Amino acid sequence: MALQTYWTKRRFGVTPEPRGKTGKRGGHAFVIQKHAATRLHYDLRLELDGVMKSWAVTRGPSLVPGEKRLAVQVEDHPIEYNKFEGTIPEGEYGGGTVMIWDRGAWEPEGDPHRGLQKGHLNFRLNGAKLHGSWHLVRMHKRPGEKRENWLLIKSDDEFARGAKDPDILEEENLSATTGRSMDEIASTKSAVWHSNRPVKENAARLARAKPAKKKAAAKPAKATTAKAKTARP
Ligand code: MN
Repeated sequence: MALQTYWTKRRFGVTPEPRGKTGKRGGHAFVIQKHAATRLHYDLRLELDGVMKSWAVTRGPSLVPGEKRLAVQVEDHPIEYNKFEGTIPEGEYGGGTVMIWDRGAWEPEGDPHRGLQKGHLNFRLNGAKLHGSWHLVRMHKRPGEKRENWLLIKSDDEFARGAKDPDILEEENLSATTGRSMDEIASTKSAVWHSNRPVKENAARLARAKPAKKKAAAKPAKATTAKAKTARP
């Protein structure tokens, strides 16, 4: 039931995102996905009770303890989502390129259920890029506000940085799993293996995904034919 909202918002078979299912309890994976949707943001996901609790961090995480970053809580995502790197088609929910910016394990400090309930979650991250202690603090809801707004804040520890130190988001801007840039992920969008699709379909998509030849632009008639073929169900 925890993934109902996630399923309702998406058209599987159109978006390459995984349908997913509620998984086994007990794991503590985390992932941060850089998502170039209408507005660029970073999705922080923490595994709890078989789903990924999720927040869209509008300006991304900061290693500077004084820099509080708005983190809007969004629907729980399936654990399978942690492996998703690719492009959500334009016009679909969250359309845009997704990069696995960081991943690893998180460790709650104290009871995470109680933390989520009271609106103050303390935890440690052990990722490829992010480490150390962090806080998620829920802000008071203003009248008429539908979503729950939290703040993501770095604790002052050995992994914290000063305001004049380099920005981790600029310093580390490649995928933690494939080493690709956002542009590289976007330009090979069709060449992604979609785990929620049959092998045959994936193979056909990869065959079609060969980089478009520059010649094609000069021959509009041919391009139209190719498009019509692709559009066939
Ligand atoms: Mn997102």
